[in-house]
Amino acid sequence: MSQRKVETIAVRTGIESDTQFNAVVPPLYLSTNYSFSTFGDVPQYDYTRSGNPNRGSLEKALYELESGEGAVVTNCGTSALNLWITAFLEQGDLIIAPHDCYGGTYRLFSSRAQKGDFRVLFIDQSDQKAVEQALEQKPKLILIETPSNPLVKVVDIESLCLSAHNVGALVAVDNTFLTPILQKPLELGADFVIHSTTKFINGHSDVIGGVVISKLKTHAETLAWWGNCIGATGTPFDSYMTLRGLRTLSARMKVHEETANVVLDYLKDESLVGCIYHPSLESHPGHEIAKKQQKGFGSMLSFEFSGNFLQLKQFVNHLSLFSLAESLGGVESLVCHPASMTHRAMGEEALADAGISQQLLRLSIGLENADDLIADLKHAFSAVKGTV
Ligand SMILES: *Cc1c(COP(=O)(O)O)cnc(C)c1O
Repeated sequence: MSQRKVETIAVRTGIESDTQFNAVVPPLYLSTNYSFSTFGDVPQYDYTRSGNPNRGSLEKALYELESGEGAVVTNCGTSALNLWITAFLEQGDLIIAPHDCYGGTYRLFSSRAQKGDFRVLFIDQSDQKAVEQALEQKPKLILIETPSNPLVKVVDIESLCLSAHNVGALVAVDNTFLTPILQKPLELGADFVIHSTTKFINGHSDVIGGVVISKLKTHAETLAWWGNCIGATGTPFDSYMTLRGLRTLSARMKVHEETANVVLDYLKDESLVGCIYHPSLESHPGHEIAKKQQKGFGSMLSFEFSGNFLQLKQFVNHLSLFSLAESLGGVESLVCHPASMTHRAMGEEALADAGISQQLLRLSIGLENADDLIADLKHAFSAVKGTV
């Protein structure tokens, strides 16, 4: 049979796998433990921290979608990142990460480095010179986050993986913003893909989860060993829910992006909107690379609000179809002020270094009707203008 396409993998994984009642949708196995049929005969699953049928189905779906050889589903995206560094970094090793990575990733890496677990260097990965200088220090691991959060900066995965492999480093791509529907990092040379499945993959803002996927089986075995050792693995219920969300991923990603394009067209002509950040824009420095390595531009965007800070707050308060909340990638649209919300853990200096200003707003475009979203934005902008 020919290699199945992503839509089919997402919909069909685990379907009709129940041998007891022929349930079409795989049942939820909440049991913490599984009996040994005879003494010494270790079953496929023995204890849920190390393995469970629901987590197993989700892992299979995710590594097949990313064209990997194995995966470990974790209890959140942060624990997926923590599992990856725990499994592959020794004391004294260096990890290179983007200076504008997800705020929680920044906090995790910098806090563990401060404890002496390893060394970390945060750099602007779109700056060729900074990358070369960092690689001279022979890092063990490199994390790429493209498009990045919240400025949706794009990094050339293929070229960075080539340079990294030349110095013996392993590369992981945080693919949370695009998912395998729009970007396949392992096919571009990466060794690992990491997701916060909390976002688009589950897509309904009701499960916290994560995954590390590896290109090599041996790496997957190391990850599974450490996942069990440190207790980072996801629960059966969360895995069940996430696989349910994953079923519709490709359909959702299409509508997210179509609607984002309508919103972008509107924002371009809005007088209170300054610079807009989205890889689909020709003015975006990563536009050409995005066209080369992505199957779409995605639906996450941010922009500089060009009114004053008081007006920015008024604008956000007048929105009703964009909930003021952290997270992203759900069916509901969200507005976020990264400097005081998702990225506040970075501190002022790191925020400035990453170019995340107090005027920056990030939108996660949901699946509401595009006209309704535009009407909501228009209303909030007009309300602000009326008060000045
Ligand atoms: C949310 C997020 C994370 C962290 O995931 P959690 O599930 O919240 O722990 C990591 N990377 C990116 C890009 C994210 O958006």
